[in-house]
Amino acid sequence: MFFAYFIISFAEYLGHTYWPSVLLWIEENEVERWKFSYFASWGIYIGVIVFANLGFAFIYWLNHPFFEQYKILKTEKWPWKENTIEWKQLLIKSIALVGVNALVIFPCMLYLLQVVSGFNTTQTFAIEDLPSKITILWQYIFASYVDDIGFTLSHRLLHIPFFYKHVHKVHHSYTQAVSISATYAHPVEYALGNMLPAGIPTLLMGKRQHFFTFCVITIVRVIGTSTGHSGYDFPWVFWDVLPMRGTAKYHDYHHSGGDFSGNYSGASTIIDTVWGTNKKYYREYKKEMMDKKND
Ligand SMILES: [Zn+2]
Ligand SMILES: [Zn+2]
Repeated sequence: MFFAYFIISFAEYLGHTYWPSVLLWIEENEVERWKFSYFASWGIYIGVIVFANLGFAFIYWLNHPFFEQYKILKTEKWPWKENTIEWKQLLIKSIALVGVNALVIFPCMLYLLQVVSGFNTTQTFAIEDLPSKITILWQYIFASYVDDIGFTLSHRLLHIPFFYKHVHKVHHSYTQAVSISATYAHPVEYALGNMLPAGIPTLLMGKRQHFFTFCVITIVRVIGTSTGHSGYDFPWVFWDVLPMRGTAKYHDYHHSGGDFSGNYSGASTIIDTVWGTNKKYYREYKKEMMDKKND
């Protein structure tokens, strides 16, 4: 909880301290706002995805007990230890596909967002609209839960045999999730199952959202999907303090085949709970907790 408060306070401080200079630069250089929004969002996305994956690569390389104690599938080796040759092949394919998604599909979908908003940027840029801590918090909560409704619905559709075979199977190449698997997805899935749901809350909030808040939410979301696929269930993940959150362990269960026909949700567990598609997971989770207690 304290960590969450610190992050939000830090974001608020950064916005109020540095945004006025950014806005001044935009106005002095007469940069069109939609172009700034477009290239800044794309740049931030690529920067964060590289940062998150390099960060996790470092943690995997360290192989330190401090981190390994949080490994979700304790009885299974990491894929690079299980079969080095197969892992190298998968890693090369992963870097290529994650690259295509980030460098081709992401800017196309971002352009679509600009088209839908009439090249007028969906967000406000005004200094007087800079977000407070409360605004950052409610907009993050709104964005992540609304985004997850779209994600869960599209994910459920992707498990229809036809779509699974031709599209979603790619993402499930990873039976043990690791950070790079987060966006290792068929471009169709990446565009319609990841990008589209993420754009909906942005469109719904419109000018109520500051571009700076949009950047903060994008950063947290990208780090969130990498963490959710990291193979670790870290206790300090601050967004997990919110109610009905889908943790890394929750999504890993879907990947590892614990319940392949369940745990469709990503950031929240709401739709799975309504559908009853996480009952098996919670039954096993409770049993695991009881066994731990009795040890
Ligand atoms: Zn799936
Ligand atoms: Zn996944």
